[in-house]
Amino acid sequence: MLRMSTLFVRTLRDDPADAELPSHRLLVRAGYIRRAAPGIYSWLPLGYRVLRKVEQVVRSEMDAIGAQEVHFPALLPREPYEASHRWTEYGDGIFRLKDRKGGDYLLGPTHEEMFTLLVKDLYSSYKDLPLFLYQIQTKYRDEARPRAGILRGREFVMKDSYSFDVSDDDFMRSYQAHRDAYVRIFDRLGLDYVIVKAMSGAMGGSASEEFLAVAENGEDTYVRSPGGYSANVEAVRVRVPDPVPYDDAPAAHVEDTPDTPTIETLVAVANERLPRDDRPWAAGDTLKNVVVMLKHPDGRREPLVVGVPGDRDVDTKRLQAHVEPAEVEPFAEEHFARYPGLVKGYIGPQALGERSATGVRYLVDPRVVAGTRWVTGANEPGRHVFDLVAGRDFTPDGTVEAAEVVAGDPAPDGSGPLELARGIEMGHIFQLGRRFADALGLKVLDENGKQVTVTMGSYGVGVSRAVAAVVENSHDELGIVWPREIAPADVHLVATGKDPTILETAGRLASGLEQAGVEVLFDDRPKVSPGVKFADAELIGVPTIVVVGRNLADGVVEIRDRATGSREDVPVGEAVAHLTGLVKG
Ligand code: ATP
Ligand code: MG
Repeated sequence: MLRMSTLFVRTLRDDPADAELPSHRLLVRAGYIRRAAPGIYSWLPLGYRVLRKVEQVVRSEMDAIGAQEVHFPALLPREPYEASHRWTEYGDGIFRLKDRKGGDYLLGPTHEEMFTLLVKDLYSSYKDLPLFLYQIQTKYRDEARPRAGILRGREFVMKDSYSFDVSDDDFMRSYQAHRDAYVRIFDRLGLDYVIVKAMSGAMGGSASEEFLAVAENGEDTYVRSPGGYSANVEAVRVRVPDPVPYDDAPAAHVEDTPDTPTIETLVAVANERLPRDDRPWAAGDTLKNVVVMLKHPDGRREPLVVGVPGDRDVDTKRLQAHVEPAEVEPFAEEHFARYPGLVKGYIGPQALGERSATGVRYLVDPRVVAGTRWVTGANEPGRHVFDLVAGRDFTPDGTVEAAEVVAGDPAPDGSGPLELARGIEMGHIFQLGRRFADALGLKVLDENGKQVTVTMGSYGVGVSRAVAAVVENSHDELGIVWPREIAPADVHLVATGKDPTILETAGRLASGLEQAGVEVLFDDRPKVSPGVKFADAELIGVPTIVVVGRNLADGVVEIRDRATGSREDVPVGEAVAHLTGLVKG
């Protein structure tokens, strides 16, 4: 039994200064977590109980599909990550350290390499497969923007599992088993979530899916169509139009367009000075060239110009997802000085591309197909070029999916207009293929005695993140509202008033519940006012609140539902049976 009189908790009336999101505010105020350093948190007794319950949900569902739990160190040697190239690819994203002999180590951001090597160490035949291994473990990533408490930490708890198969067909069964387990996990956590196509990022591999908790404060944006297409916005692929014939297109011509550094000003000036016959110029007629700096994992910096139709912005997260492992940085004022060929506000395709004077790499939106005609920068201040035809007047180095996706865009599979919403990534399942097995030499003998490379999947759940995501999903202005499965206790028993028989009765009720297997958080504090006790109970968020107080004179206790606010009086003699029924369903 947890007693408020001795429990190591101090609830706070005020929000922590650095907290922007409800989950962060409430978990700190209700005494679940405390910040130790940026993106690094300590778990207090209530928080640690919730964390372990989330772990238990995940563990039981992993066990149910036959996965076996192991536990790796967090402190790892460099060599395996060197072999997979991730020692470099992770760039600033990992914590590296040296031992006293100068040997290189890292704190594990994810463990594909270690699992691959362990299986290689012990297994050598197809007969040993399929195999599912998992761990629930602390991971370390030096996130650029740690955020919202435990939602994006630099130290966090992840469940990572890995599947090992000989054939692609077998692998698909393993993948499906994990996907089904994830559905059960997130159902049990009481999350409102969606499953979307995703980008594989640093993991490589062919395909992946994410489980996103629907949350307006989420960092991820996803799309959905009426016909069932769903994807993280990073993974949305533009429908590529057919090339356009341009035989009758006029030659490109440069025009004076003074003071037009933005698309709006350009469109206004074009309509004023160079009106079209058929219709007014629109933003979509222009080609906007946005320059960024790429920082490669080896530290090298390279400018990149991205061309998108002028009615859209570049979505930095989409761009980032497609240039990984490089990082997208802003192109600073001093960089323009170093690349005089890039005229700020008037960058045009003719100065770009491998074979151009600047040599700056130029990638365009897939809609910029051969024959499309554009108004775009002329690489001179105050001038633009008109009727510049893709494939005739300029040749980009390639395409990139970096233009923002907007509501109403067609789904790539033709299943209707897209709508956008936000979510928190809770889980990510990857079809790794043979990348890690190849890099680290994981082979087994197949039925014909031939060495074959094993095919793998990797599957992550953000266990500590789930604690925060559940709170984002389930709270009100008074505090947290835990789903029963992961609440720190089943019942929050509040004794109010100074009458000693009240405290006595409440104590007996608490023991009775405990004996019936109900977890009780008992507010037995003698000198705390009922108002403070109720406020704490609402803040802490245990799903059922039991009040033993004045009503005891009538022989009843009050049972409140934290989620709905409904209240009912139950005879004190029936309270244990009633509550046990409620809690055990
Ligand atoms: P994100 O896009 O949010 O950075 P990721 O793609 O880097 O996530 P994975 O490498 O797939 O994440 O890790 C598996 C799971 O671990 C994620 O789905 C997420 O729930 C969790 N996770 C990842 N990074 C963090 C973090 N910094 N803090 C807490 N949980 C995290
Ligand atoms: Mg990440």
